[in-house]
Amino acid sequence: MGDREYGMIEDMLPLLVSNGKGNFTSAQIEAFNKFKKFIDHLPGGFLIYRADKSEEIIYANKALIRIFECADSKEFIAYTGNTFKGIVYREDYEEVVNSIEHQILTGGDNLDYVEYRILTKKGNIRQVEDYGHFLRTNVGDIYYVFITDSTDKTAKRQQERLQKLEVIEGLSLEYDSILYADLDADRITPYRMSKRLTKQFDGEIKAKSYSWVIEDFVKSWVHPDDQQRIRNILSPDYIRKMLSQNRTFYANFNCLYGEEIQYMQLRIVDAKNYGRISHIIIGSRNIGEELEQERQKKTLLENALKEAKIANIAKNSFLSNISHDMRTPLNALFGYIELAKKHIDDKETIARHLQSVSDAGKQLLDLVDKVLEISYLESQDFRLNEELCNLEEVVAGIYDEVAPVAKKKNINFTLERRGVLHPEVYADVEQLKQILLNLATNAVKYTGNGGKVNFIMEESVSPSAEFVTYRFVVHDTGVGIAQEALEKIFEPFEREYNSTLSGVFGSGLGLTIAKQIIDSMGGTITAESQVGVGSIFTVNLSFKLPKKQETAANTDDVEEFIKGKKLLLVEDNEINLEIETELLEDLGLIVEPAENGKIAVDKMAVAKPAEYLFVLMDIQMPVMDGWQATEGIRALPDPAIANIPIIALSANAFESDKRLSAKNGMNAHLNKPINIDTLLHAIEKTVMNK
Ligand code: ADP
Repeated sequence: MGDREYGMIEDMLPLLVSNGKGNFTSAQIEAFNKFKKFIDHLPGGFLIYRADKSEEIIYANKALIRIFECADSKEFIAYTGNTFKGIVYREDYEEVVNSIEHQILTGGDNLDYVEYRILTKKGNIRQVEDYGHFLRTNVGDIYYVFITDSTDKTAKRQQERLQKLEVIEGLSLEYDSILYADLDADRITPYRMSKRLTKQFDGEIKAKSYSWVIEDFVKSWVHPDDQQRIRNILSPDYIRKMLSQNRTFYANFNCLYGEEIQYMQLRIVDAKNYGRISHIIIGSRNIGEELEQERQKKTLLENALKEAKIANIAKNSFLSNISHDMRTPLNALFGYIELAKKHIDDKETIARHLQSVSDAGKQLLDLVDKVLEISYLESQDFRLNEELCNLEEVVAGIYDEVAPVAKKKNINFTLERRGVLHPEVYADVEQLKQILLNLATNAVKYTGNGGKVNFIMEESVSPSAEFVTYRFVVHDTGVGIAQEALEKIFEPFEREYNSTLSGVFGSGLGLTIAKQIIDSMGGTITAESQVGVGSIFTVNLSFKLPKKQETAANTDDVEEFIKGKKLLLVEDNEINLEIETELLEDLGLIVEPAENGKIAVDKMAVAKPAEYLFVLMDIQMPVMDGWQATEGIRALPDPAIANIPIIALSANAFESDKRLSAKNGMNAHLNKPINIDTLLHAIEKTVMNK
């Protein structure tokens, strides 16, 4: 087809030059007219011009005239001066001519392709694509050219290019500089420049010699220790070697920025990923912050590991302490029982030994309680149980409990109240007692004979409308605590000496428990101490004040109320049943026993209304447990019987157990062993105020 086309144009040229006027045969003229009609109706522009200095236009088709927004060929000729030079936008002309000549010379097939702008007659700038052919003919050398308006296409391409750039920009945000290099051509162009690189590129986005830029960059910015390494890494040979294995690689180095050393990372990417490696992208970024974060994370983990290890060691030593501490009262228990057996007829000796058995049992119970307590406090289960109480009474109770022990040791134990104006507050009495009792007991325990312990309760000067703050200080002149031990005194499983060595009974848990409770109450506890001088423990706690005048329960009324009344005591353990029966009967109650939950339900099913004042129910029992029994009783047909107050008395002391009891329809939940005061309060709440 190319050959025919060339032939046709060659044939037609003489006619085109003279526009069909001259000495031509009618057949030639007919062919010429057909040809003209054909090219005039081509959808794109068509142009023939002389390939000499004149660049004279020999022919322009209608489509080209339309592209130039000229009315007809006359106007087009006038507008362009009838030369190719008049076609190309002035600023693009030189480049277009050079490009055409270069392509014709080097291309070999006399074809060229150029893009340039044109200015239409109406003043619009359009972008065109120009496919040119160079031809030698007997009427001279000519170019014939196909021109299409590519304005819209170019705009679209430009839009796509911009979008691509935006994507690259977005993805490479963290890079301070991005460079594009052609290793074969030894060229490098910045796409984004860090402050440093502006020196190498004079702040301009333009191509420079790759080898020069790299050398200048290394010398100007890279830390002397890293210069040779970075030079090697950025050598074209090394880059080619690395990129032949992976599409990308990176290198870290120290940079000098004035006095400051910055930690940088270079990332090198193969831009083409096919054929010979020459086009690459180099990105550089500051990774100091990342490294610092990484380092902090590592330290955090290391510390956590260290703490876990320490906790583990402490736990092991705690376990060995606790085993020893459990063995001590157990040995005493067995020892005194054996002794008692030997003197079975000697009442006085037996009574003495039984007292020792009871003491050892108490010690053991205390230990078990504390271990349970701590796991409870550490669980999610723990909730404070606030009730209205009198702080002065609480503190006095503690004083009374500890005073006999102090007296035995001939310790001067005093209680001081300072500025107490609002003793009636809401507090979790059990927990508060536990804290203060622990501090007072410790003070007496760790103070030698003839020492002094002062227990101070002080109200803060101005309470708010809702809260009052109290300071409790326990001051002793005892052995004191070494600084090292003092720092860890509230941590679990820590004792200054282990009990095996010190010989003083203790779990090392009391203060941990105290601190945890105080934390949960939103208070603080601090300890000051000096070995051989004494210790001061200070607790600050805020309590809610009652809104209206409420008073704590008066147990005398309750005792009066229950006298001669009957209760159902559900308990499977014989010893417990015996002890509890005796205590309840001492209160004037009549006890009807039931050995398990099933028997209890059966007894209630046949009971008369109001026959029983309330039910005291164990939880863990064979046949039917306390919760099931409660459900059974609540399901009885007579509401007067089904709604009887049921109080749980259980060894299951966790908050979750209490909640389960409530869920199963019990009115209160008390812990074993039975405490008369608490029982009376529970009766007051559930039976009398129901
Ligand atoms: P423990 O049951 O061992 O007394 P605590 O947690 O109550 O447990 O106390 C932890 C340790 O703190 C004790 O073993 C003792 O070494 C030290 N300690 C506590 N209170 C005092 C005090 N008032 N004087 C001297 N040492 C004390």
